[in-house]
Amino acid sequence: PLQENVDINALTRQTFAFLESEALHRGIEIVFNLDEALPGVTTDANQVQQVILNLMENAIDAMTQDGVLTLHTYRMGKAVALSVQDTGVGISEENLPKVFDPFFTTKAVGEGTGLGLSIIYSTIQRLGGEVTVASKLGQGSEFTITLPAAETDE
Ligand code: ADP
Ligand code: MG
Repeated sequence: PLQENVDINALTRQTFAFLESEALHRGIEIVFNLDEALPGVTTDANQVQQVILNLMENAIDAMTQDGVLTLHTYRMGKAVALSVQDTGVGISEENLPKVFDPFFTTKAVGEGTGLGLSIIYSTIQRLGGEVTVASKLGQGSEFTITLPAAETDE
């Protein structure tokens, strides 16, 4: 993978721009909660962008009118975290352990391949980070990715 100095806040804003009209059309509110002092990440911007886009698409798919999509970045020790949180349908306790499995989908035939999260999982692993999920059925979901912060001489 490419090794560039990536600003996760900027990448989050740029990626959301692709989905902005869809989100507005669906009446979804967007909350940006970005840590302006976030360190950079030395990584492959294209691969991370693909991950963020997939998480945002899943979040938007999970919501109807009046949903709220919250994009939150923060520092976590030597890592940078981004969480994509929605107030959508949520995931049942039974399905939660399966969401990263290849081909697991609850979407209608033709609407979901079930590959998005399995690809996200392997991409983030390869980039040295982690992806986690917290969800409650009927309340919403929060997917969090962490990536190692770039080395600084503090
Ligand atoms: P796909 O989107 O093609 O179904 P994914 O791998 O992206 O495949 O997601 C797998 C499944 O995980 C989805 O079908 C859905 O059941 C669940 N899921 C993923 N993200 C969310 C979310 N934000 N809210 C509720 N369910 C989700
Ligand atoms: Mg998906």
